[in-house]
Amino acid sequence: MTTKTVGVMTDAVCRELREALGEEKVRNDEITLVTYGRIRHGFDIMWPFRKPSLVVFPETREDVVETLKIANRYKIPVTSVGTAPIQLGTTEGGIIIDQRRRDRVLEINTDSGYAVIEPGVSFDKLTSALRGTGFKCSVGTMPGPGTILGQALGRGSQSFTTRYLNLIIDLEVVLPNGTVFSTGSSHFEGVGSHLRYGPYPDLAGLYTCSYGAMGVITKAAIRIHPVNEASRVHLAGFDTYADSIDYVKDLINHNIPEHTFIWDWHMYLTWPLAPEDMEKVMPRILESDFRKPPEGIPYNIVSTLLSGYPEQVELYEEICAKVAKKCHGRVISDEEAEKRFPATLAGFRQQYGDYSYRESVHWSKGRFAGWYVFAEPKDMKEIEKFAAGEFAKFGKAINPVNYYSHPFDFGRSILLRIAGFPDPTDIELRKKITRKFDEMYDIALKKYRAVPIRPIGSDKAGTYMEVLRSIKKALDPNNILNRDGGLFEEGEL
Ligand SMILES: Cc1cc2nc3c(=O)[nH]c(=O)nc-3n(C[C@H](O)[C@H](O)[C@H](O)COP(=O)(O)OP(=O)(O)OC[C@H]3O[C@@H](n4cnc5c(N)ncnc54)[C@H](O)[C@@H]3O)c2cc1C
Repeated sequence: MTTKTVGVMTDAVCRELREALGEEKVRNDEITLVTYGRIRHGFDIMWPFRKPSLVVFPETREDVVETLKIANRYKIPVTSVGTAPIQLGTTEGGIIIDQRRRDRVLEINTDSGYAVIEPGVSFDKLTSALRGTGFKCSVGTMPGPGTILGQALGRGSQSFTTRYLNLIIDLEVVLPNGTVFSTGSSHFEGVGSHLRYGPYPDLAGLYTCSYGAMGVITKAAIRIHPVNEASRVHLAGFDTYADSIDYVKDLINHNIPEHTFIWDWHMYLTWPLAPEDMEKVMPRILESDFRKPPEGIPYNIVSTLLSGYPEQVELYEEICAKVAKKCHGRVISDEEAEKRFPATLAGFRQQYGDYSYRESVHWSKGRFAGWYVFAEPKDMKEIEKFAAGEFAKFGKAINPVNYYSHPFDFGRSILLRIAGFPDPTDIELRKKITRKFDEMYDIALKKYRAVPIRPIGSDKAGTYMEVLRSIKKALDPNNILNRDGGLFEEGEL
């Protein structure tokens, strides 16, 4: 069944919303609408412009409930967004719920290890709130102003811990008919949010990777992690990706790293660059074949966060050196890193020491073109060669070509994210890249058993999508939530 019917925004809808929420929380001036219509443009110029009809700024959960009830009654599409909305977009003529005013950290529970946050809380905000508590939240390689929930609901690779796939323990959800429920232990009155699983099926799982298509989240409990007495970023260099994978797997199998990450040399040399370093490093990178690093520059660096008691960390460092040697690599000392790539070292220190992302300058808006897959370690060794070969075919036009790769869930699954930075105004090149990426996803799935990070068309997911559609129909019968967010085919149910 296909449900394409959508309501038409009328003055009555706007009036009802203003009466329910208050004048000031509902905007429909042209500048606001155009700004939100451009949401998808921020990251990728190929994404279409879609102007909403209204933007709502809730300040309470009740504001969200009222908005959804009204939108549902009139069948107006609704899209929830976080603070730095760049990923998945609005529906033409719909309502945007922007939760940036709901940005309080409600609880930091250092006994159990979770924080309860409102949906507008960004990684930067939680990181700051956690300072001095002896706890941290895991941050990824994404901009700090992005919301934790926005990231978790379209789960990519946020987790700078090797141990968990995502941050979520408990979610408070509002459905289009106004029903509110919690997915974890806090659903029982008076109970905290310490437990995600049981005694009932895990409904939080329905919301991760759903891009808000199954309900609007109004509160979340997420994992936080203790800051141990000692911690250190250990670096090792490798000439091949396969050796890097063997090293990472060996360390994880022995429970050594809190987190470990593989960076290709274009990535580790350019990711943390400040503008003043650009002139020194970029010309060389822009002219080079990323598969052939210059003498003395390792093809991959593996950064490993070691933490625990001081004695433990010291021993872990020795073990890392031993394993690196076994895997044909070598330790990169702080002195060497300081001399050869000081900005990189500073970036690692900021990421791990301050738990905040160091924004790099080449992430210019519209330039990014990334390809992402998950696979088992042995398959990923082949995929890296395949993807590098395909990216190399574009030549220097998309330099720098950078990738990172890291294990999830103790190394059961490895992520590879490889990206180029084409000229955003070269539409033909952008189209060619999009077509190439689609082809690559198909080959990666069929030949290398690799799972794409984002939905790649419901026809490829078979009965899984049928079941998901029936759940969606039960929760959102009018198909108003995030219709064009990418989970289902555009506008369809
Ligand atoms: C330079 C750059 C690098 C990045 N690198 C990484 C990376 O390494 N790993 C990674 O995983 N991501 C990465 N990202 C993506 C980034 O994680 C997300 O863009 C960001 O964290 C999402 O936050 P947001 O506030 O922009 O969410 P939005 O884009 O607003 O939301 C994301 C999705 O969740 C939905 N949503 C948001 N809030 C709610 C809610 N309360 N209820 C229901 N639905 C909701 C939205 O509709 C949307 O579909 C990167 C982004 C940039 C710009």
